[in-house]
Amino acid sequence: MVVADRAASLAIVGSPATAIQLADVMRVYREVDIETIALRGIDLEVARGEFVALMGRSGSGKSTLLQLLAGSDRPTAGRVIVDGIDLSRADEDERGRLRGAHVGIVFQSGNLIPFLDLEENVQLSAELAGRPIDRVGTRAILQRVGLAGRERHRPSQLSGGEQQRGALAAILATRPPIVLADEVTGELDSTTAGRLLDLLVEVHRQDGMTLLMATHDPHVAARADRIIELRDGRVVADRRIR
Ligand code: ADP
Repeated sequence: MVVADRAASLAIVGSPATAIQLADVMRVYREVDIETIALRGIDLEVARGEFVALMGRSGSGKSTLLQLLAGSDRPTAGRVIVDGIDLSRADEDERGRLRGAHVGIVFQSGNLIPFLDLEENVQLSAELAGRPIDRVGTRAILQRVGLAGRERHRPSQLSGGEQQRGALAAILATRPPIVLADEVTGELDSTTAGRLLDLLVEVHRQDGMTLLMATHDPHVAARADRIIELRDGRVVADRRIR
């Protein structure tokens, strides 16, 4: 949805029904002699409990948008509000806290801590989110994501897909209200990818968590409630499919 009236959009900042809100968001990457405008004025609202697929070809700005929502990057201009927190004003600490308790992340690059094994990663995430779990609970979760027997492995000893499943295990343990996923199915074989997607959708349905997933795959997007398409850093389509 394109927010035409800025005053109206700002009036609902902090509304408990809104999970994500972007107002006129720009992100410009500046290098020595090159300027790349990755996002050119994005206005967007995602309601709590929605499953949104973010589509668009490579270079359209999907990852940049997810990085802003994850709090690992800041917009050049505009406002980014996630779970009631204005990330465009938040300092590094505040953005770090957002990642712990408010937002779960399943990115291709993996977001597990490299020097901890899988079990420790899941337990630490749970602890940081204020939901400590014991070893039995951790193992049950690792089994659910198909990583039983891999408890002692560090992220570098896991494939990309296994790291994504590890990240999903941390999400099952922490149950954040918002989950961001970047091409979760990109580099996986179709069975593994399907299972990971099923798990994400199941968690979204059971817990009512908001799910924003970047994907190239129309079959994946077809499972969402809404599809948003980016082109050259702009929202060019936004349609509800269920
Ligand atoms: P997508 O995820 O849809 O492939 P990106 O958000 O990665 O798109 O990229 C959007 C645009 O921003 C592209 O033109 C890309 O080259 C550029 N870009 C992304 N990250 C950087 C960066 N760190 N430095 C410079 N340009 C970047």
